[in-house]
Amino acid sequence: MIEMHDVWKVYPNGVEALRGIDVRIDYGEFVYIVGPSGAGKSSFIKLMYREEKPTHGVVLINGVNVKRVRDWKIPHVRRKIGVVFQDFKLLPHMTAFENVAFAMEAIEMPRRKIKPRVEEVLELVGLSDRMHALPSQLSGGEQQRVAIARAIVNNPSFIIADEPTGNLDPENSWDIMYLLEEINQRGTTIVMATHNKEIVNTMRQRVIAIEQGVIVRDELGGEYGYED
Ligand code: ADP
Ligand code: ADP
Repeated sequence: MIEMHDVWKVYPNGVEALRGIDVRIDYGEFVYIVGPSGAGKSSFIKLMYREEKPTHGVVLINGVNVKRVRDWKIPHVRRKIGVVFQDFKLLPHMTAFENVAFAMEAIEMPRRKIKPRVEEVLELVGLSDRMHALPSQLSGGEQQRVAIARAIVNNPSFIIADEPTGNLDPENSWDIMYLLEEINQRGTTIVMATHNKEIVNTMRQRVIAIEQGVIVRDELGGEYGYED
């Protein structure tokens, strides 16, 4: 579960990116974060994977306060969150297999467990035959599938995705969304910031709209609600 209580994010330059956010996201939910550019979506998302800390207020991930660094360093807390980015962020000198394996090595999984699990998740995302390719040899859609394999390999409770279809054409975007939907149906909570109106209006999940750092709408089966 993700909880925020009166969360403010004020950057050193004085920009108030989030202003008094209260929200609760339960296990198993699929949530879209929408809103205009500069509204605070990335800041909201970054607080969830601890790329940023709140200036004020409390962010709890499975009951753990993200501000308390010592607790956060415990691998079993950190591994509960998988992150997917618009620009994939794969390590360029590593193959698809190695990129995914690296996420398991980072939490010190025993070597004998890594190979079978990496093969399993690469199969789930449909990349068994591209395992040994470098990111530069893969299409954008394939790279995003590697990134999703990396995000799920440690069995997280949550996937946090910031515009995961932002660099993909419509066909690849839909493939990624079906994959995320399948992962959600297997029990993983998904929180996804997006500007993709068609996807939000078709998939009809919970929609949280942020404008000027404030939640202005929070609806189950909601719509995108903007024209861009
Ligand atoms: P969105 O993802 O909705 O576009 P952001 O969370 O990226 O919104 O940005 C919200 C506001 O905070 C914007 O005014 C943006 O310029 C500002 N901002 C974001 N990141 C930083 C940062 N690291 N330092 C200063 N200001 C930032
Ligand atoms: P996104 O498109 O994902 O919302 P942005 O283009 O707003 O991202 O920001 C890209 C990066 O620059 C982010 O890491 C964000 O924290 C940072 N950033 C955004 N706005 C500012 C700002 N006004 N000052 C400093 N850093 C910023």
